[in-house]
Formats: sequence, structure tokens, C-alpha cells
Amino acid sequence: MLALFAIHSSNRFVHVTEVERGLACDCRCAVCGEPVIARQGDVREHHFAHSSNAQPCTSSYESDLHRFAKRVIVEAGGLVVPVNAAAARALGLGDDLGPRILLTCAGIEEEVVVGDRRPDLLATTTAGVSVAIEIAYSSFCDFQKRQDYENLRLPVLEIDLRVFTPTAFDVALVKHVLLKDLACKSWLWPERLEAAELNPEPPADPPSVPAPQRQFLPEEIVKVRGRWISVKELPSGDIAIKVVRYDPDVVSVVRTVARQHSGQYRGAYFSWVIPRFRAEAARAQLRAIAAGV
Ligand SMILES: [Zn+2]
Repeated sequence: MLALFAIHSSNRFVHVTEVERGLACDCRCAVCGEPVIARQGDVREHHFAHSSNAQPCTSSYESDLHRFAKRVIVEAGGLVVPVNAAAARALGLGDDLGPRILLTCAGIEEEVVVGDRRPDLLATTTAGVSVAIEIAYSSFCDFQKRQDYENLRLPVLEIDLRVFTPTAFDVALVKHVLLKDLACKSWLWPERLEAAELNPEPPADPPSVPAPQRQFLPEEIVKVRGRWISVKELPSGDIAIKVVRYDPDVVSVVRTVARQHSGQYRGAYFSWVIPRFRAEAARAQLRAIAAGV
């Protein structure tokens, strides 16, 4: 793969589009330290090449992306993060916050060991609270990792950068997503109180679901502890799981199953969406729970 990143003489880890063309880029190879030239021609994808013309060193795009993301956050000294009641409490903030806040940091360190974990970044807010930040591209926090953070009582934010493949890497956009956007960020711990838990009587049919779509969705009802759980197949093959009538225990069962199968909570629909490649496994697990297995 072509080298898209290098180390500038200022010691910054830079993307090829951030520097001057040619040797004027003033950069060296991030792997071997040899001076590099920035190739920014019209034909091939922009990249760095060794000035000696030696074969490019092997590097991992994923670790480069991590390194770049860390640089951006450290340089900014903070980032906008989503807020929910649980996160606000953990961050030592008051109630009645908006859906987002700018988390300003007194310090941000890279790769610090905390208990059994070594988050990509460990930030200390100006209020003195530690926050772990995990950058994700191909591997995401699993159950154990999340549990470790919970045991440490260390709030952990995951930033999902999987849309930024090597060819889709855009410095301005990556910076925007890292620093200002909420779409790719979620608190792994403490987690959001779900809409269903905050609104005990959710509307049975959220009006925002398009009517034609509803008519054609095959729906299965699974009964757990006398409560109905609706499992609908979406046109994409994903499935949407929803507790038909609010019950905290059943909501909790659904949440546990959904999380084990990469589910994403859709607050507007009071449902969990499970990607199609995990749909059958999630269904099977719900059926097993319903059967008391
Ligand atoms: Zn090299």
C-alpha cells in the first residue's frame, strides 16, 4: 500500500494532503526515518515515497489512522461529545445539558495503561475527570473491554472511523468528525438510559416509520416473561427488535441480546437494529430465551 502519512520536521504525523509537494514537504518516513517526497500528481493517488526511490516501507493504515486521530484530538485539546444523563453524571456535569458538550481537557495522554486497559487516549477534563477515548476502525470494543472500563469506573468514548477508508480519507472531514461531530461517537460506559426507560409508555406506532415499509415487514412476535417482543425484518435484511409494551426486565433482556449481536439503538423507533449478518443468531437467542432454554 502507498504511504499516506509521514512525520513532518515539526514532529507532527501528517497526511500527504497536508504538506507541500515534493521534497519541500519536509517529512521523513514514519517507519524508517528516511526523507520522503510528497507525490501529489494527477494520475496516481497522492502518497509519500522515499527520496532514495527505495521500496515503500510497510505500514498499517489502521494504526496510521489511529495515530492521526490521536494527533488531531491532542492538538485540539478537546472535542465535542454526546451527553446523556449517565455520562453527564460521570463527567461531573450538572443536569439539563444539551445533547452535546465541548469536552475541554487539561491534559490528553496517549497509550497510558489504566488497570488492564490501554486506551488510545486518556483525557483529563478541566473538571479533573479522566475519560478514555478509543478510536475504532476495524475492531471495536468488545464486551470484556467495556466491562473492564465499567469496573474501573472510567468513562469511555468510542469514535467509529470505519467510513474513512484509505481512499475516502479527507483531512478536513476526519477532523470535523473527530472534533465537532456526534454521529460517530458513543459512550461505551456509562451507557445511555434508553428512551424506553425514560418514557414508560412509548407510542405504540411511532409516526415517523413510513407506512408502506411497515406493511411489508415480516414480523415475528417472541414472548418473554409474558411480554411481547417484536422482531421485524427490514428491507435491508437487518432486523429491528422492539419491546411492544414497556417492561424494564424485558427491555434489559432485549438490550443484552442486541449488544451481543452488534445492535444499534434507534431512539426514535424504540428499537434495536441488528445487522443482517447477525440477524439469525439474535433471533435464535431470543427464541431460546422465550423457550426458557
Ligand atoms: Zn521508510
